[in-house]
Amino acid sequence: MQKEERISIDAILKDDVLEYLTQLDLKEDFEAGKIKCNSCEDIVTFENIGIIFFEEHIPKIVCNKPYCYQNVPITR
Ligand SMILES: [Zn+2]
Repeated sequence: MQKEERISIDAILKDDVLEYLTQLDLKEDFEAGKIKCNSCEDIVTFENIGIIFFEEHIPKIVCNKPYCYQNVPITR
């Protein structure tokens, strides 16, 4: 069950992420490799993007390492 869910998320992720980053005006930085994980400071790309979240209305991105992923403050 969980495996199927993961596949569909991966399939839609790229388009959704790009759309979302465009709305946040972060697309150019993302494509230029300038977006860093808010937790471990690795460069975040399509290969390792985890979650986009907001802190004080500022968009932040973390990579998909369990450590970074799990430390995101879920506030919405
Ligand atoms: Zn990270």
